[in-house]
Amino acid sequence: MFADLVLFNGKIVTVDAKESIAEAVAVKFGKIVAVGTNGEIRELVCRETEVVDLRGRTVIPGLIDSHCHMISTGMRSMDTIDLSEEAGVKSIGDIKAKIAEKARSTPKGELILGGKEDDYKLLERRHPTRWELDEATSDHPVVISTVGGHFSVANSKAFEMACVTKDTPDPVGGMFERDPKTGELTGGLHERARELVQVGLGVGEPTRESAAENVKRILMANASAGLTCVYDSVHGSEVRAVLDLKNRGELPIRVRMDVSIDLFPELNKVGISQGLGDGWVKICGLKAYFDGAISARTAYVSEPYLNRPDFYGVMATTKELARKSILEAYEAGYRISAHANGDVAIGMYLDIMEEAQTRHPRPDPRNRIIHCTVVNPELVGRIKSLNMLPTIFGAYPYYHGDKLIPAFGERRLEWMFAARSFLDAGVKVAAHSDHSASPFPPLMGIHALVNRTTKAGKPIGQSQKVSLMEALKLYTINAAAHSFDEDSLGSIEVGKCADMVVLGKDLLSVPSEAIIDTPIDMTIVSGKIAFERER
Ligand SMILES: [Zn+2]
Repeated sequence: MFADLVLFNGKIVTVDAKESIAEAVAVKFGKIVAVGTNGEIRELVCRETEVVDLRGRTVIPGLIDSHCHMISTGMRSMDTIDLSEEAGVKSIGDIKAKIAEKARSTPKGELILGGKEDDYKLLERRHPTRWELDEATSDHPVVISTVGGHFSVANSKAFEMACVTKDTPDPVGGMFERDPKTGELTGGLHERARELVQVGLGVGEPTRESAAENVKRILMANASAGLTCVYDSVHGSEVRAVLDLKNRGELPIRVRMDVSIDLFPELNKVGISQGLGDGWVKICGLKAYFDGAISARTAYVSEPYLNRPDFYGVMATTKELARKSILEAYEAGYRISAHANGDVAIGMYLDIMEEAQTRHPRPDPRNRIIHCTVVNPELVGRIKSLNMLPTIFGAYPYYHGDKLIPAFGERRLEWMFAARSFLDAGVKVAAHSDHSASPFPPLMGIHALVNRTTKAGKPIGQSQKVSLMEALKLYTINAAAHSFDEDSLGSIEVGKCADMVVLGKDLLSVPSEAIIDTPIDMTIVSGKIAFERER
C-alpha cells in the first residue's frame, strides 16, 4: 500500500492514550494509515504521494470547538454592523456614528442591525440607551446585540414597529429594561424579550445563495485558525446552508449540530435524531436554554453580583417549562445539550436530568451542559454521577476576564470555567468559543486554560489551571466524545480521520505566555489541505 499524503521529519503530538510523540504520519483515502518513525513511513511513499517535509515542525490533531454560533454569525455577517472593539468602536459616540452612517445608505423604515457590542470595552462602561440610539436615527428601527448574544438594545422606532410599548408585559423567560419610576422602556432586551422585538420587526433571512457563501467564508476562517470541526447551534436555514455546501463538496470543515428543542415536535415527526448524518455533518442533541450569559453578567447565580446589588442574573425559562420539554424529548430518545451558566441554573438542569435518566435510563447518555460556568464541589459530583458532559468557555478567562473580576470577585472565579475540577473528578470536559461571544481561534482558549490570566495580565481563578496537554485534550479527544466521534476524531492514530494542524512553533515548548501567538501553518481535513499559510 502507498500513501496519498505523508508528513515526515516532524514532531507529531498524537494525543493518543499514551500521549506519544511520533516523527511522521501517512494518510490514505482521508484516513490515517500509519504513525511512526521517518523510516517506517518512508516505505509508504510512491511517485504519486504528496510529501510534506515538516522540517522539525509540530503537528497536533485537528482542533474542535464544542459549542459556537459560527453558522448564524457567518450567515448574517454581511448585513450586521460590527460594533466590537476590534472594529474600532471605543464609545457610545462611535456606535451612534456607525449607525448614522449606515442609516444614510438605508431606505427609511428598513431595519439596521448591529452586533458584538461590549459595554465593558466602551469609554462609558455601559450599553447605550434607546434614546441614544434614537439620536443616530429615528427613521429606522435599530437593534444592536451584545457580544454574548443574550442582551440587545432597541431604539424607539424598533419598539414602535414591533408594537411593543411600556404596557407590554415581560415575556416568560425574558425581561424589558424599564425606568424604575415611570416603567417606560429604556431599550434593553433580555433573553426572550429580544425575540419578541425581532419577530415583531420580521427580521429577515439572507438568500439561500448568500447564506451558503457567507457560511463558507467563516468556516474557511475557522480552518485558518486550526479548527477542523465545530459544534454549532442551528435552526432551519442554517442547517440548509451547511448541507448546500456539503452537497457541493465545498464544506471546509466538519460540523456537529445541536438543534433547538423548540423544533422537537417537527424533528420527532420525521424521525430525525442524534447520529443522523455522516463524518462531515451530524446531528447531536437538542439545545435548551436555562439562563443568561457570563459576558453580559446575567448568568443565574446563588450569590448576587458584586457590582449590582441584589441582582442574581436572569432565567431564560422556568423550571416547569424546561422540565416538560426535556422529559418529553428524552422519553423519545433525544440527547440534551442545554445552556446553563450560573450555579442555580445548572442545579435546575441537573434536577431535571436526574429525573429524566431515572425514568428513561440509557447505557451511554452523553447529555451535555453548555458553558457550565459557575460550579461548586457538589455540582461537580452530581455531573460526574450523571455522566454529563460539560463544555466550558475556553478563551473567557483571558478575553472577558477583566470584566468578570469586578462582577464575581476573585474567590468565586476559583470555581468558574472549572477545567481542573472537572478533570480531577474524571469528567470528560471540553471547551468552546461560543463565537461570536468570544473570538474563535482555539489557541486563545488553550492559552487561557493554561495561564488563567486576563488580557490585562491579572490572575483569574488560578486553581483551575490545566497543563498544555490537558488543554489540548479539551479541544480534541474530549470534544470528539461529545458527538460519539472518539473512534474517528480527536487524535492522530491509525484508522482515524486525517484531521491535523501543522504549527509554526512547537506548542509543547513555547513559553506559556506565547501560546496564543503560535502560528497555524497548515490545516488538513480528511487528508486534504484546507488551509495553508502564505510564507
Ligand atoms: Zn451559545
